[in-house]
Amino acid sequence: MPTTQFSPNVARLEASATLVLAARARKLRAAGVPVVDLSAGEPQYPAPPFAARAGIRAVEEGKTGYPPTSGLPELREAIARYLRETTAAEAVDPDSVIVSAGVKQSLFNCCYSLFGAGEEVLVPSPFWPSYTTIVRLAGAEPVIVETTWEGGFVPAVEDLDAARTTRTRGLMLNSPGNPTGAVIPPGLLREILAWAERHGIWVLSDEIYRRLAYGAPSPSVFDIAERGERTILLDGVSKAFCMPGFRIGYAVGPRDVVRKMADLQGQTTSGAVGPSQHAAAAALGESAPREAFVAELLSRLSGLRELGLSRFAELDGVEAFAPDGALYFYGRLTGGAAASLDVAERLLADAKVACMPGEPFGSPGHLRFNFAVEREVLEEGLERIAGFFG
Ligand code: PMP
Ligand code: GLU
Repeated sequence: MPTTQFSPNVARLEASATLVLAARARKLRAAGVPVVDLSAGEPQYPAPPFAARAGIRAVEEGKTGYPPTSGLPELREAIARYLRETTAAEAVDPDSVIVSAGVKQSLFNCCYSLFGAGEEVLVPSPFWPSYTTIVRLAGAEPVIVETTWEGGFVPAVEDLDAARTTRTRGLMLNSPGNPTGAVIPPGLLREILAWAERHGIWVLSDEIYRRLAYGAPSPSVFDIAERGERTILLDGVSKAFCMPGFRIGYAVGPRDVVRKMADLQGQTTSGAVGPSQHAAAAALGESAPREAFVAELLSRLSGLRELGLSRFAELDGVEAFAPDGALYFYGRLTGGAAASLDVAERLLADAKVACMPGEPFGSPGHLRFNFAVEREVLEEGLERIAGFFG
């Protein structure tokens, strides 16, 4: 068969490494290989029953027409209220909220609307692989700003500034971060936002793990009163509400940007799935059940985090970064092993544990393990990891 000549639009498109590896682990399991799957970053627990029921009810009641492109008014209002209740923001205008098919689509809409050819977007590393790919899809260039284990994996303002050029248009922030779980403390967040404002740089703050913090709360950009005009908050229900399959995310930003994103969405997906929006409105809507759900999840994840960190501390070949948030153990291979892709392959082949190698995250020599699984699954995985690293 002749090779297809693809359009320049996708010349630099890479498949989502996280999704590809997760699919591979699933396929192996389906073929009967007893793989412990710690690869994809997803809480492997059911959605809140009150949210699932609201989605089912919407279908049963025939609420199956096109939802408004920017999202159901009741969901946009629920998001605005949720942000008022869980951040220091005194007012959030529902018209500044746009609902999309997951944070991934929100990010794509943002980048495609704001960045283009000849422009640069700063991406602190290690990073979630979709950031660099989405920036490139928009035609812009990601510029990597290294963070270090010793520095707690948070970006330093002087490093951001050293990477800044006249072409810098944006900065991706992700706190708690994937894959490290690092949290940017409030003082530093304030400094970064002030620096970005001074230089006219858009800040895209991906706060999908904000509620999953194990020490001090992880601050939102909405906690910083003096944040500039060019700040966009992104969040969704995939992590803290265990609803990744519902595909609901949102962006909150200046109204003209949100309007442009709605135009883009209106020409691409027509917006997010309706019944999922009803489910998300129920998940975020009433504060008592919502907060009870998040508290229970957090306590469960805290226990798993403790369990894993104590096991990793006994190993020689790999050491784990103590995450302040998110749902990952981020491990550094000791002894200078750089090719974590090979190690991940061997871990899968020999020990039947699926994880993510550091390479797609811009950090060879590291492995990422999702710990948001059933306790027995994590125990079994840790046992096998210990056997592998011996
Ligand atoms: N941001 C980060 C940092 C993530 O790890 C993920 C992974 N799911 C996403 C965004 C995408 O989430 P969603 O399911 O809302 O598209
Ligand atoms: N974000 C998750 C991860 O990092 C899920 C996969 C994806 O959306 O890329 O594994």
